Amino acid sequence: MTDEESLADSIPVDLRALARRDARVSGRSALAAMPRLAAALHEAPGARQAQWTLHGSLRALPGGGSQPMAELTVRAVLPLQCQRCLRTVEEPIDERALFRLVDVEPELSDEELEAEDEALCADAPVVLRELVEDQLILALPLVPMHAACEPPAAPEPADASPDASPFAVLQRLRSTKR
Ligand SMILES: [Zn+2]
Repeated sequence: MTDEESLADSIPVDLRALARRDARVSGRSALAAMPRLAAALHEAPGARQAQWTLHGSLRALPGGGSQPMAELTVRAVLPLQCQRCLRTVEEPIDERALFRLVDVEPELSDEELEAEDEALCADAPVVLRELVEDQLILALPLVPMHAACEPPAAPEPADASPDASPFAVLQRLRSTKR
């Protein structure tokens, strides 16, 4: 195995080549460069980064030959919205995924769903930042929450004057249109 190399996350990488040389690469990716993930965050990502390593390897197949594999680990702290107090909760993510590098995406069979590794189409070079972003999105907790916090206090009663209600505003808009 070669020493760990650091790699720019925006350059497409031939994962099969990494697997063939048993390479381990690592890098950092700015969360601000991940628009799909940023949409799920409670705060702007600012200078936050995800740290990742990718280890390519060849798995010997029982019938001879080998299957190229890639193991990705991703670590980051994501600012999510606590579903109890509605403030920011710093959610640590530490995810590992094992990919089986394939040419063609397989059908989603039961066997495929239960496999401990995941098929990843690697017929073209892969941008690691996008792979890391996918992994972080998959790792998002369904209900992010502080270990201990209080729900927010009930809001002050809203202005009850009839003019302020959305219906009153709608009524006014309608009457001006006519
Ligand atoms: Zn909370």
